[in-house]
Amino acid sequence: MSELWLATNNPKKRAELERLLAPLGIRLRLPAELPQPFAPVEDQPTFAGNARIKAATLARLAGAPALADDSGLCVDALGGRPGVHSARYGGPGLTDAQRLQALLTELQAVPAAQRSAHFTCSLCLCGADGAVLAAVEEHCHGTLLTAPTGHGGFGYDPIFVPAECGGDPAPTFATLDAATKDRLSHRGKALRRLVAVLPTLRLG
Ligand code: IMP
Repeated sequence: MSELWLATNNPKKRAELERLLAPLGIRLRLPAELPQPFAPVEDQPTFAGNARIKAATLARLAGAPALADDSGLCVDALGGRPGVHSARYGGPGLTDAQRLQALLTELQAVPAAQRSAHFTCSLCLCGADGAVLAAVEEHCHGTLLTAPTGHGGFGYDPIFVPAECGGDPAPTFATLDAATKDRLSHRGKALRRLVAVLPTLRLG
């Protein structure tokens, strides 16, 4: 396979998946290339459910296999929120920085020892008929700082310190280089698992 449709309108997420797939010779095609609008309703309570909706919708529209990533940040002190609502946390129309600030405000009274969280990434690959060919889910555990640090990555990266990273100050996903984020991240782990099963699939 040299081309794969990717069910996302998020340029930062696309960039991460692109740099993970490019070394395998896989070029990503995007919903913007289609004549029809791509606007799936992500109304499922799970990452896997939303990934499936996005992948199946795009695969049918494109008439070709499509991959979707549904991901988010689950904060233990908030009972797992924002979770599947991570992209909309804090209200509509906010920037990534404003959402992150809204989360820091909600977590203001939470002490360092209770600031554990994890990212989840659910990937779903559907065939041209919308049937699921493969689905994987991975996590990355860590803790949340009280102020943003670093300018790389996207979303909640500037406050997330992966569990594998120590030091003082500890690096956030936004201060790590791309290769290190990909090695540790929920998305990197999930994509490596998905890529491992690609040769066994009938993508027709
Ligand atoms: P989705 O497009 O509905 O899957 O929303 C994903 C949202 O989760 C993003 O908009 C970010 O807010 C957050 N998110 C997912 N993955 C990451 C990551 O690797 N770093 C930071 N934030 C992430």
